[in-house]
Amino acid sequence: MSAIAPQPAAVRTTCPYCGVGCGLIAALDSAGGASISGDPAHPANLGRLCAKGSALGETLSLEQRLLHPMIRRADGSLARVSWDTALDTVANRLRTIIERDGPGAIAFYLSGQLLTEDYYVANKLMKGFIGSSNVDTNSRLCMASSVAGHKRAFGADTVPGIYRDIDEADLIVLVGSNAAWCHPVLYQRMIAARQGRGAKLIVIDPRRTATAKDADLFLPIAPGMDSALFCGLLVELAETQALDQAFIDRHTTGFAEALRRAREIAPDTAATARATAIEEADVARFFELFRNTDRVVTCFSQGVNQSAQGTDKVNAIINLHLATGRIGRPGMGPLSLTGQPNAMGGREVGGLANQLAVHMGFSPTETDRVRRFWDAPRIATAEGRKAVDMFAAIERGTIKALWVMATNPAVSLPRAGAMRAALKNLELFVVSENVVSNDTIAAGAQLLLPAAAWGEKDGTVTNSERRISRQRAFLPSPGEVRPDWWIVSEVARRLGFGDAFDYQGPSDIFREHAALSAFENSGQRDFDIGALASLSDAAYDRLDPVMWPVRAGETPGERRFFGAGDFFTPDRRARFISPEPPRPYAATSAAFPLRLNTGRVRDQWHTMTRTAMSPRLCAHSPQPFIEIHPDDARALGLADGGLAKVTTPYGSATLKVFRHGGQQRGSIFAPIHWSDATAAQARIGELVAAATDPISGQPELKATPARVEPAKFAYRGFALTRRSMALPEGTWFARLAVGGGAGVLFATNEPPAVWHDLVRRLMPADAELAAYSDRPRGVARFGVFRGDRFDGCLFVGPAHRPPQWEAARSLFEAGAAAAPARRIVFARRGVDPMTDAGPMICACFGVRLAAIRDVISAGSATSVADIGLRLRAGTNCGSCLPELRDIVERVAQSV
Ligand code: SF4
Repeated sequence: MSAIAPQPAAVRTTCPYCGVGCGLIAALDSAGGASISGDPAHPANLGRLCAKGSALGETLSLEQRLLHPMIRRADGSLARVSWDTALDTVANRLRTIIERDGPGAIAFYLSGQLLTEDYYVANKLMKGFIGSSNVDTNSRLCMASSVAGHKRAFGADTVPGIYRDIDEADLIVLVGSNAAWCHPVLYQRMIAARQGRGAKLIVIDPRRTATAKDADLFLPIAPGMDSALFCGLLVELAETQALDQAFIDRHTTGFAEALRRAREIAPDTAATARATAIEEADVARFFELFRNTDRVVTCFSQGVNQSAQGTDKVNAIINLHLATGRIGRPGMGPLSLTGQPNAMGGREVGGLANQLAVHMGFSPTETDRVRRFWDAPRIATAEGRKAVDMFAAIERGTIKALWVMATNPAVSLPRAGAMRAALKNLELFVVSENVVSNDTIAAGAQLLLPAAAWGEKDGTVTNSERRISRQRAFLPSPGEVRPDWWIVSEVARRLGFGDAFDYQGPSDIFREHAALSAFENSGQRDFDIGALASLSDAAYDRLDPVMWPVRAGETPGERRFFGAGDFFTPDRRARFISPEPPRPYAATSAAFPLRLNTGRVRDQWHTMTRTAMSPRLCAHSPQPFIEIHPDDARALGLADGGLAKVTTPYGSATLKVFRHGGQQRGSIFAPIHWSDATAAQARIGELVAAATDPISGQPELKATPARVEPAKFAYRGFALTRRSMALPEGTWFARLAVGGGAGVLFATNEPPAVWHDLVRRLMPADAELAAYSDRPRGVARFGVFRGDRFDGCLFVGPAHRPPQWEAARSLFEAGAAAAPARRIVFARRGVDPMTDAGPMICACFGVRLAAIRDVISAGSATSVADIGLRLRAGTNCGSCLPELRDIVERVAQSV
């Protein structure tokens, strides 16, 4: 590997979070951090960023980084080893298991966070040289149903449209997508289309999300009933002669059967309304808008994909666009919103167990083609195990070696508790990671390989509209970290495959990947980037965002697919698919009367290993929670803001209660982000069933039967600390970054005296402790001071009236002098309300609730636009705009 080159002051790179794929400009600052801004030249975002992207500079600390290869010793401790020892150990143990049990005993579990080049090398090693297809990825939990739906309909995993279609649409239908929070920059393009050209926005979701608040029409669909709605619409289009019969006749097959099935499922508007539990007038309005609008884009995401019938739902959507010929032309088409930054790149290389490589499968012709291209000694000839099946095979002991790269399955998989236990069965368990500890590592990883993180690694990613962008290094590689492609290639070399993995850098890999995409491809495969196969190293370094396909001899540009048919099926016709009758995945029961829906919050990403480092990102949703309808909460005795125990047949979690009128009765919602590293008893994956879609293998993450009851604690409190703090056994907690240290929100049955002792033990020798106690009320407050500075505090009070932490946190984050903090510690009636800034609303500009209320109450802001002018809140990424509208309404009603 070449020496690390000096880093330039600013580089163009790409965001490591969602599939929008925003371009960034990262500029190193003198303190070793970086300032991050949107790249105005990147077509995905034209300079805009959401809060997560703009906070990336706060997430570059090396504090939790894995910097050296580590091996687990017999006593369970981890010891540093050299790269040679680590790589030799991985290769030797893999070889032993392959020789003894065959290649099917090995599995790789990859990630949509990997770069395309990393993905390519891992996929090539496993499928071409080890000879197994047991390569799957966390994209199975995210995109697999879209992939399967595309392949069934189009003959290939082709996204037909581009982001520009959103700008040019007159009707945007969002299905199962809280885009305002999960794809914020793209969502702002939708809002711009609405405000600019008067496009209508329809949101279809069981929850009234932030996105739903902006909708012209919100359809609160019954969980799992999406196909019924789209079947009803197909029938409506047929009954009203709103089909594009010429397109159907010329470019598709299976329409009559699909329409017959649709009539069985939802024969008319009234039946559709009954099946979906949507008001009939709203169903009719949706049908009318869709029928009468030519330029319709239907965007769909996890609410569609993460379902035991996800593939059918995707096809029910695609059927509508095929039936109206609204595909592949400006302002129209189905558009799958990719969750992860490089889920699309993973699909391109073949990083799913049911793909071979570059959009080829396992037909004899395809396996032979890839074998010849790779000169592969042991090409896999059949599909491997998809994620849920892969971990079930580990549970059974069939898979004996697992290599996890850049993901945290002990948190994110369904039945995560059982899966975590199953990892102990492995004979070889390797993890390539950025962080020194996470739940997967804690599950018993035997070898930890330090991988380069975002900002240090170099390669490409592909976003939801097929646009390939460079992710570029702008930070030096710390410690002994290495890129994933290098780690995999070194293991391949030690397994005897050095000639095929003799890469000098990511550009070598990209060129090979591009060449394979074009190999014996005369237009029968969609993915073709042959024009990039001869890029020089310098041209690869300079590569501007480019959309595929870019076939040899073609000029790069924005391309839609299928406007004139020419699908990738053998007869070049699209397939209408007849969906199965929709049904919720599992029946509720007296023991589990509710349905648990899972999802994301606005300012966190996946299992928070990066976003939890940013104080402003942590400020929006500081602790794990459930949303529950107020009537259900009342019936169950759940107080708003109290704690609840959520139990399913697979596990339980303790979460804060939010009564939320946007939640349907009988349904609860919990975000997925928290792990054992950030909270106690809050891993939602542990609660979720491992039911999967029969076609895509994607797990149902939206409808696990559950029950909820109040969680009983005597006390609740918080701590603000500048150093790490271990809590007594049995304490429920959520830990988060705050400016200058960490915050801990906790619930406990331990009396205040125990906390007094804890603070005393933990405080530095030169610190002074100020203590306030009100025993009759069960209140105790401890402030720690060093000299004249406020160093930290711990407040505890009765669970029904927990101490609020905003005032103390503001002082702590400001590094305040001792005097005002002492006033809070000794305040007779709680904290001084004048210093309570409230929760963070606009994370981009750090604007909290109190400041917004103040400008409204003072009469200097009467609208969201005024708030933007006065405080800048809502003027960047826009993901807080729905909350700002809510606040304006609430404050207006209260005055
Ligand atoms: S929308 Fe936000 S998280 Fe997604 S790529 Fe853009 S900046 Fe990153």
